[in-house]
Amino acid sequence: MTELQHIIGTPLRGTLTHNVPMRKHTSWRTGGIAERMYQPADLEDLLVFLRGLPAGEPLYAVGLGSNLLVRDGGLRGTVLMLHGTMNGLHLELDGSVYAEAAVPGAKLARFAAAHNLQGAAFFAGIPGTLGGMLAMNAGCYGSETWEKVLRVQTVNRLGEVHVRMPVDYEIGYRHVVRTEMQDTRYKTQGSSLAPQSQEFFVAAWLQFAKGEGGSVRQEIKALLNKRIASQPLNLPNAGSVFRNPQGDHAARLIEQCGLKGSRIGGAQVSEKHANFIVNTGAATAADIEKLINEVQAAVQEQTGIKLHPEVRIVGDKKL
Ligand SMILES: Cc1cc2nc3c(=O)[nH]c(=O)nc-3n(C[C@H](O)[C@H](O)[C@H](O)COP(=O)(O)OP(=O)(O)OC[C@H]3O[C@@H](n4cnc5c(N)ncnc54)[C@H](O)[C@@H]3O)c2cc1C
Repeated sequence: MTELQHIIGTPLRGTLTHNVPMRKHTSWRTGGIAERMYQPADLEDLLVFLRGLPAGEPLYAVGLGSNLLVRDGGLRGTVLMLHGTMNGLHLELDGSVYAEAAVPGAKLARFAAAHNLQGAAFFAGIPGTLGGMLAMNAGCYGSETWEKVLRVQTVNRLGEVHVRMPVDYEIGYRHVVRTEMQDTRYKTQGSSLAPQSQEFFVAAWLQFAKGEGGSVRQEIKALLNKRIASQPLNLPNAGSVFRNPQGDHAARLIEQCGLKGSRIGGAQVSEKHANFIVNTGAATAADIEKLINEVQAAVQEQTGIKLHPEVRIVGDKKL
């Protein structure tokens, strides 16, 4: 495709870059090249960008890339990078918290503590952005992102803004789908999705109960210590690779199958936490994906349980 800025016409105020190594934007520190990356200056600029974007241009949102494996052949089209720009965070008059999509979990947790709000401590240990946490319904220690959501603001790829309520989504364990997506008007001929169906989170209003800042800070500290003790945070990883099956833990099953420490190339099932795969230094995305498949097959063969990846795997395989 020729220069995107030229096609869009209206001057953009954000940053458009080309041939971006996604290893710099993913916590696994590996993966191929994204053809283009656009980091909007603000919401208005994002709307200009989306309204000018050619219909056929693939578009993929990335936050902190902490749940993402980009295959070694890279990503075609444009990565929409909100991290580093849409960082607004304030208290509304009604006491709710307004946070833009690029706000990191840790910042959100500290902000809530500073305003004597409780119930946000769990965000502290999730190394993603609010946008990524909304997309994943991220959670831990008995709490999930969408439990706190009053409403969200989204934009679709035609540059239309919507405010949506939790009832507009089917929400489950690491699962968020807009209910409207089942609607036939979102299907084009041949049943591919119509462009307006692709939406990105740009902000959310969150509600937390009143608490006491000091005890919330203690809670954050305790949760972070728990993570340090149980997770291999010294090596690049993407958190839990598989969802927990109903009534069980993926880590327990993987360990029971004797897979801790298994390796393919530079990818290894962590010795510390069996549901983590770490990049020991030079893992390719293919190493990690092969190891994911191998673990999945071994667990299924030995226990009859099929584990489903929680991490999102995107892009092309290297030929
Ligand atoms: C050490 C470690 C610990 C972790 N612990 C937890 C945990 O306890 N609980 C948990 O749930 N997860 C955990 N994770 C996984 C990860 O942090 C979460 O899934 C997080 O929500 C991902 O946010 P992100 O901004 O990094 O999203 P990314 O990885 O960049 O993207 C994830 C998905 O969200 C989509 N997305 C991103 N931004 C937007 C947006 N603005 N609009 C629409 N879609 C968007 C992407 O397209 C992609 O499909 C952990 C990861 C690591 C590395």
